[in-house]
Amino acid sequence: MAIMVYNTLSKKKEEFVPREPGKVSIYVCGVTPYNYAHIGNARPPVVWDCIRRFLRYRGYEVTLVQNFTDVDDKIILHAHQTGEEPLALSARFAQIYLEDMAALGVEPATWYPKVSAHIPEIIKMVQGLVEKGHAYQLDEDVYFAVDTFPEYGKLSARPLDEMLSGARVEADQRKRNPMDFALWKGAKPGEPAWDSPWGKGRPGWHIECSAMSLKYLGSGFDFHGGGTDLVFPHHENEIAQAEAYCGTKPFVRYWLHTAFITMRGDKMSKSLGNVVTIREACARFSPKVVRFWLLGTHYRNPLSFGEDELTAAANGLARLETTRDNWRHLLSTPVHEGTGEIPAEVSTAVSNSRDRFVSAMEDDFNTALALGVLYELVRDVNKWALAEDFVLTAAGEKGLREALSLLEELGGLLGIWFSEATVETGLSAEEINALVEQRQAARKKRDFKTADAIRDRLKAAGIIVEDTPQGVRWRRI
Ligand SMILES: [Zn+2]
Repeated sequence: MAIMVYNTLSKKKEEFVPREPGKVSIYVCGVTPYNYAHIGNARPPVVWDCIRRFLRYRGYEVTLVQNFTDVDDKIILHAHQTGEEPLALSARFAQIYLEDMAALGVEPATWYPKVSAHIPEIIKMVQGLVEKGHAYQLDEDVYFAVDTFPEYGKLSARPLDEMLSGARVEADQRKRNPMDFALWKGAKPGEPAWDSPWGKGRPGWHIECSAMSLKYLGSGFDFHGGGTDLVFPHHENEIAQAEAYCGTKPFVRYWLHTAFITMRGDKMSKSLGNVVTIREACARFSPKVVRFWLLGTHYRNPLSFGEDELTAAANGLARLETTRDNWRHLLSTPVHEGTGEIPAEVSTAVSNSRDRFVSAMEDDFNTALALGVLYELVRDVNKWALAEDFVLTAAGEKGLREALSLLEELGGLLGIWFSEATVETGLSAEEINALVEQRQAARKKRDFKTADAIRDRLKAAGIIVEDTPQGVRWRRI
């Protein structure tokens, strides 16, 4: 059957038809690495990791590009605070982000381009836009002229006055139209800067994703992903500058946007200060549980972060893992004589599950529904396999083996079976949590010798324990 995807551009589900038969090209907007990434930053890569696995299962060769915005105001600001070079600070946190992704079982992207390594491509594109009359220079800055692109606003479908009022907040009187956006910014003292035809400067934010996606994927690539907060202005601007530059459309065939994460009803955001980092979430609940929770809600629906939601995810995952262990155990027991067939409803459940799982994923990559298929498979097979009078016959063994390999295969498409070995410490999140709890218990009993010994042991493994007003936290050095 066809894969249907909800395209933000057309505002409806469309049949996915790749640009090139057998190949899929994906660009996902990445992070600005200036601090530990928060849990909202984990949603797009985990979702796209599953989409990529599923497309591969469907026989496509998949190329996935995710950028690092390593030249940015926030990076410069934090670097001034820590005394580091901005590019050194962003390189450090980009590395930490990649470790977070590995912890969550996300396969590395095909490419992780960084802005700082693509300045010539960006300058070439800005120059091309100036030459074609789509951009203009103001002092040492270059702006995109939205009036030269009549389709501006087609992705976000925002009323013009709404876009205008947003743009006016930071209105620069020099601009021809308040919505014009910077492609290149003249250098200010203390900022990273590169030579350009307009003097020393650095790229505006939006141009990087167009320049890098065009370089790695070419115009008209298949999927562009990111959080819903990027629809306007980031992706709107990307369309305008890329289609104006290439003179062809579409720049992207399908725009897919992941909804945000909420905490106690509020959107999680740095500005609201209710942010949980990926590391904190993984330390509290384990990376596997965090991944499982991220997949338990369809990517276009908001997802709530909280003790109850993560505990429910932990229980759901435990149910699947325990079942897998039980089935493996049963299959290691001796096969009994006899011709006992497996009940019809069990073989039906097994034979239908693959189709139902695939249908769920074909319907706009509905991982929540796909997980539901796994729960039902487990429930239906367990009614038989875990019954008190269960006897493993030759036919039963064949059926159970099929059920197990199906559970493992389909779960593998969602990436839920990975092991949690943590590379740099050799301690898993569970082990670290257990040690932190032991240390707390020792401190309560005023047994500081033991508490300090545990702290030193964690420190030797590269883990720092911090006592904060909100409780004890740990982080990797
Ligand atoms: Zn982007």
